[in-house]
Amino acid sequence: MGVFGIDLGTTNSAIARIDADGRPEVLVGLNGEPTVPSVVLFASAHDHVVGEGARRQSRLDPEHVCALVKRRMGDADWRFMAHGQTWSAPAVSSLILKSLAADAEFAGADTVRRVVITVPAYFGDEERRATIQAGTYAGFDVAGVLSEPIAAALAYGFGRLDGSIAMDKGGARETVLVYDLGGGTFDATVIELADRRISVLAVEGDHQLGGADWDERIALHLSQQFCAANPDAEDPLDDSAGSQMLVLAAERAKHELTDAESTEVVIAHDGARAVITLTRTELEAMTSSLMRRTIDLTKACLAAAEQRGVHGVDRVLLVGGSSRMPMVARELRAELGLDGELRDPDLSVARGAALYGEKLEMERLVVADLVTRGRLRDGAEISEASPTDLEQSIARVAASFGQPVSLVRRMIDIRVDTVVSRGFGVLALDPYNGLAASWLVHRNQTLPIRVRRSYGTVRADQDQIELTIVEQQGQAASTRPEDSKVLVEGRMHIPPGYSAGSEVRVTFEMGFDGVLHVTAYHVDADIPLNLAVQTGATLSAADVARELDQLQRTRRRPA
Ligand code: AMP
Repeated sequence: MGVFGIDLGTTNSAIARIDADGRPEVLVGLNGEPTVPSVVLFASAHDHVVGEGARRQSRLDPEHVCALVKRRMGDADWRFMAHGQTWSAPAVSSLILKSLAADAEFAGADTVRRVVITVPAYFGDEERRATIQAGTYAGFDVAGVLSEPIAAALAYGFGRLDGSIAMDKGGARETVLVYDLGGGTFDATVIELADRRISVLAVEGDHQLGGADWDERIALHLSQQFCAANPDAEDPLDDSAGSQMLVLAAERAKHELTDAESTEVVIAHDGARAVITLTRTELEAMTSSLMRRTIDLTKACLAAAEQRGVHGVDRVLLVGGSSRMPMVARELRAELGLDGELRDPDLSVARGAALYGEKLEMERLVVADLVTRGRLRDGAEISEASPTDLEQSIARVAASFGQPVSLVRRMIDIRVDTVVSRGFGVLALDPYNGLAASWLVHRNQTLPIRVRRSYGTVRADQDQIELTIVEQQGQAASTRPEDSKVLVEGRMHIPPGYSAGSEVRVTFEMGFDGVLHVTAYHVDADIPLNLAVQTGATLSAADVARELDQLQRTRRRPA
């Protein structure tokens, strides 16, 4: 049973696995399309529709259709309300995940259990946790969350590996900029491919920027044109069904203008009608500030990479459906002198996720094999095995997979290094400034990271220490608490009987998946302390129980 790769996108999602030849394959569901719109229609309190059927219904039943939920990931307070029920972002996302799994199984795959889910590189700890929660709600074992640009680079690097140059030992070093403009998020990432290593050097992005913003601008323009032609009719933007209709028409026009210079949009609303001609030039003019923002973020990303010694990139991969717009490649060339290549913009992320899942699975099996045979200590890293033992184990795992030894070795050899997408630190009392953020880890530092800090109690018999962990919000790390977002507000209980100044050692660990783990240790008492978390993106246990119950009671209705 393999690990499936899932691209849980803002507008579209896809699921992939590794086929019998060791190549990533995107699974096509009931609707015959490789991608499924990330849209959920809550048809009643007991059933829901996911995908194209839900998207089509958004015009007729907008109150019950939830789209762009990915933008809400990590917002613990957000809920979608329908039929007297409330749904958190992970719960809505889990319905999309389950639907993908059902599609995969329809396509003849095994039961989907273990998965890798991709997230924008710019997602911080909270959004990554929310994504894992969505997977757990769907009943999956989440083997990892992977940044989308890494997935795209992996799909690209693996493709090259077949004939292979870049990622083999001694091969050329290649620096790649991944420009990923999807439906709702934008990420710019500089990645280096060398010696079977994929290293993320810099990340920039905005998860409130994507194709949907283009659609909104166009919809506004269409409504203005409609109202000018029909002064007595109601503005379609004034009611939700009218707005949805305009947004869908806007998106259709946008797609047409990728290939054509001009298109006609028919808007019928409130008994009136308008035929509006829209040209590509007009579209580009009304969305130029959005385009500008992606260029500015790309420049900031290149500047951050330059600080790490990267002078220039060899290749620009354009991913995400919106990077199909001709303005993207043109502006990148005009502003940065870079020629972008559109490579499998919709599916490369799902393919890369499947490759990464396969790598994790092979690693897991090799480690298990080594441990069972007493060649590796339980809990040790694969790198601690002797080369001979490793080679023998790889041969056994390859035989059980029915795959060439060279392929398994290559998968295991690939290393993925990534960076922290947002710095984090603790709020501490500063004698001069009052409460201020003290940064422990800065953005773009290489993962994994482990930071230790010691805190002393201020009085004898102190029974607790409070800890507030914050995450950087803006481009630069600021010490002002209001510029950061609280990740964790926790309290550690301290056993009685210790003097003032007794040491509590707190360890902040962030693994490759970008998820933060905090542990604390009382040095004098020689015991670990439990950090009782009060706030943060994690839903309360009561919320989770209620949502699980609700999820069990809703059925997927075929579109
Ligand atoms: P993704 O999140 O990568 O699936 O990208 C979806 C976004 O890409 C949506 O905003 C789509 O409107 C946009 N998109 C897809 N195809 C095209 C196209 N041919 N021209 C312009 N935008 C497109």
